[in-house]
Amino acid sequence: MKKTLVTAGLVAASLTAMLVPGVAAADPTTAPATPAAEGAANPTPLTGKTVFLDPGHQGTNHSENLSRQVDDGRGGKKDCQTTGMTSLGGVPEHTINWNVSQLVKTSLETLGAKVVLSRADDSGWGGCVDERAQAANKSGADLAMSIHADSTTTGADDKDHGFHLIVPTLPVPDAKVQAVQSTTGLEASKLMRDAYVKNGFTAANYAGVVDGIQSRSDIAGPALTTVPLVFVEMGNGSNPDDAAVLDSQQGQLKHAIAIVTGAVNYLMGVTSNTATTPAATTTPATAAPSTTAPAAATETTTTTTTPAPATTTTTATPEAAQANIITQGLATLQTLLQTFGLDGLKDFATAENLGVFAELISKLLGVISAPQG
Ligand SMILES: [Zn+2]
Repeated sequence: MKKTLVTAGLVAASLTAMLVPGVAAADPTTAPATPAAEGAANPTPLTGKTVFLDPGHQGTNHSENLSRQVDDGRGGKKDCQTTGMTSLGGVPEHTINWNVSQLVKTSLETLGAKVVLSRADDSGWGGCVDERAQAANKSGADLAMSIHADSTTTGADDKDHGFHLIVPTLPVPDAKVQAVQSTTGLEASKLMRDAYVKNGFTAANYAGVVDGIQSRSDIAGPALTTVPLVFVEMGNGSNPDDAAVLDSQQGQLKHAIAIVTGAVNYLMGVTSNTATTPAATTTPATAAPSTTAPAAATETTTTTTTPAPATTTTTATPEAAQANIITQGLATLQTLLQTFGLDGLKDFATAENLGVFAELISKLLGVISAPQG
């Protein structure tokens, strides 16, 4: 226990040094690279940014006709909605999507963004797929994110696993959708893919997914959305390992941290530098060892996988440099979660001088402990 506290203190010190300008780390070897440090001055770097967040599907308390035919964005029609999958553990997809979205919403708002949700709760109706796309377009969001989880069978699938991002098969008939999703939308999806890999997730090995990305012509949302869209399938609810992560509060926070990382990178102007993308089933070696979280990672004996440390992203602008600091902080948060679990995070929420990250951890734990409804 004492060792745990010492480790926690070291990580806290490096987070402090990273996020609070002018505060030295307890151990000089954990000090952050100085060029980017000035970017930490703004605790709400997403101020002025709007994110449209769409937790896929809806609760069961409604009397809508799901098979009502709506615009599919390609000159045809398709069902207004579907109920979504149920994971191996028996958790409905709409609830997984909702829980992760609440954690993402809280994180983005803590960082200053305005978040517009597609549905108000996890109990009732949330709109047809075309209505949600229209709501995203009307919100004027800088980024829209649809949050989903997949399934492959009604029983257990031990083989197919991993996350993927759905992008619309091009061209899309609507000129504006085509212009946006073929450029910024694709870029945002690639950044989300990269964030997922850096946060310790594996890209899907099924359904024609290439490097974490799947092109689809039968999904209406991406063909109807005129703001950059990330459509994430977090994992395969039919796969025992994926389902265990999707179903648990800790796993849902793990997904949320990855999603926030990808969103921050996109919103703050980081560009994807993955001309050669990693293989779909391979976690790429990281460019440089992290200077922020090695203590926690190396001392744990209970975790099976450790998220990859933050990599040194090429930063072209001060804003992108600050995004790098934030994503390193999120990577540290991911490591803390992996190492100490949800209960262990509480120590960090109350630690002194953790600035925006203490606030973030505290708020995330608040979301998790709130009554579900
Ligand atoms: Zn879904």
